[in-house]
Amino acid sequence: MTATAHYRGRFAPTPSGPLHLGSLVAALGSYLDARAASGQWLVRIEDIDPPRCPEGADSTILRQLEAFGLTWDGEVIWQSHRHDAYQHALDQLVEQGLAYPCSCSRKQWQAFDIYPGWCRNGVCDATKPVAWRLRSDLAKRPVGWNDRLFGEQHFDPAELGDVVLKRKDQLWAYQLAVVVDDAHQGITNIVRGYDLLDNTPWQQQLQAALSLPTPRYLHLPLVVTTDGQKLSKQNLAPALAEESTGIRRQLFQALQLLDQAPPPALVDESPEAQLRWAIENWSVSRLAPLAHRPTPPEQ
Ligand code: GLU
Repeated sequence: MTATAHYRGRFAPTPSGPLHLGSLVAALGSYLDARAASGQWLVRIEDIDPPRCPEGADSTILRQLEAFGLTWDGEVIWQSHRHDAYQHALDQLVEQGLAYPCSCSRKQWQAFDIYPGWCRNGVCDATKPVAWRLRSDLAKRPVGWNDRLFGEQHFDPAELGDVVLKRKDQLWAYQLAVVVDDAHQGITNIVRGYDLLDNTPWQQQLQAALSLPTPRYLHLPLVVTTDGQKLSKQNLAPALAEESTGIRRQLFQALQLLDQAPPPALVDESPEAQLRWAIENWSVSRLAPLAHRPTPPEQ
């Protein structure tokens, strides 16, 4: 059996709005990397922060993925249904003395770069609501990996601080949920935007603390506006096209943004035909290791 026979990748959007060109690039990159390795590609809806997730945005995203031909394997999972799994992980960390409640407010420690760990040996103010943090001083593991695009990455554990696992408002933190779910879904390869690269060390610390495997990582150049902002709902990135010409053009554009140099005639082909070509020709070594890629002008 080849190593790639076990490949399991995923796309894990936060349903804060419809997908735009930037999220299409992340979805497409992870899809192509999985399919080119004859692997599986899963979808997980990261809706742990309800105020950020308007109703119906999840089904819009799934419809958009289908319209672009990005079909997934297995059942979609929703983080909003996974509270028990996150609680179980937190309990496990607490039992091992690796997580602690913290009553401090950001205002109290704003003079420091990272939270100084004042509540590590007992909560500072028992009358206040608490967040839960990881003891980064105990959850030791050299944090670093060989990113498939950005190469060797090393982070000083002392500079990471005690990451929040559960917030004071009782919402689960992204770092905990993502680690628990990547392991639950058996993810072997994470392909996602460069904006998440500096989250990876916390996720690795948590993987170690929970005795979970660490996947391989490939961070993709982030599509940014002409003034360097990440495309997002906040800066009014337009939603992906819905009609067939627009879909073909944007899929083609996403392949260009991934430096795959699609032949010009491919733009007129159906999403299925474009994807077939892209899977056969997928090459990570074509990708330029740039943190940011400006949105190309409308063609
Ligand atoms: N939910 C995150 C986002 O939409 C992505 C998480 C991940 O890929 O690890 O930015």
